[in-house]
Amino acid sequence: MAEDLLIVKNLKKYYPITGGVLGGEVGVVKAVDDVSFTVKSGETLGLVGESGCGKSTTGRSLLRLIEPTSGEITFDGTNVMSLSTDAMRKMRRDMQIVFQDPFASLNPRHNIEKILEEPLIVHGLGSSAERKKRVQEMLEIVGLSSYHASRYPHQFSGGQRQRIGIARALMLKPKLIVADEPVSALDVSIQSQVLNLMQDLQREFGLTYLFIAHDLSVVRHISDRVGVMYLGRIVELTTSSQLYSNPLHPYTKALLSAVPSPDPDAVRERVILQGDVPSPAKPPSGCTFHTRCPHVTEECRTVRPEFMDAGDGHFVACHLYKS
Ligand code: SF4
Repeated sequence: MAEDLLIVKNLKKYYPITGGVLGGEVGVVKAVDDVSFTVKSGETLGLVGESGCGKSTTGRSLLRLIEPTSGEITFDGTNVMSLSTDAMRKMRRDMQIVFQDPFASLNPRHNIEKILEEPLIVHGLGSSAERKKRVQEMLEIVGLSSYHASRYPHQFSGGQRQRIGIARALMLKPKLIVADEPVSALDVSIQSQVLNLMQDLQREFGLTYLFIAHDLSVVRHISDRVGVMYLGRIVELTTSSQLYSNPLHPYTKALLSAVPSPDPDAVRERVILQGDVPSPAKPPSGCTFHTRCPHVTEECRTVRPEFMDAGDGHFVACHLYKS
């Protein structure tokens, strides 16, 4: 059984809302509200949900690119929350992030060699010749060529730019990659190429992924387990196959009903969600999904359902599954 590489407990990220005449705090946005999960070494955990559900904030909080409000993050046995700025910077050698928009995350004035070399320079690794050699190797590993090193980001397609983003994340040989919507900006045909590349790299280098996406079909392709987020909380977490064959939470069922089935004969009941996602500044009482849930009861409006194991490690937060 693989070890837990990442353990997250009760993670919260709250943003104060200021206003009024004196500009004081008048409320709080609970972007991430009591999120707990683990990721095993070599595993891919998918995190899905609609935009604004807190999945990207969760991913960035793990690397403390956003400072969490509270919670525990243990990475490879180290308490991440206790690290100084300098120690955190060193820790990020092992925890890297790939962003959604590769173009925005690559400096347009630097050529690819400079972009890929930079993490090595920042961490004081290798001589100039060694760094250049590593850049050449890495370009080949991600399916580009060594001659691409002298080119600039605007000279590449979206898919190629994401390969460069992945190469940059791999330069320091990390253990964990937080992939924040890495294929959402790409054409569907290119998406599967990049996903296949990520899977190949995972096998080759024993990588662990936290894979964030709003699209369940993308997450299914790559994840061992999947967590579904709604309004800052994980509402369901189980293996990828369980989630797709036996979803429990009404929100997961609604999300899945919108995903085209690979089997054209499969009849899946379409669940249309009413209304928009409520504001995280004013989350509904009780179960935060109750304003859109087709199974809502009086209890749902007042009592927050616990996130509990409904059997075999299939976790769900819904009053329909009380033991
Ligand atoms: Fe729906 Fe109630 Fe379950 Fe929330 S607790 S998902 S409102 S049935």
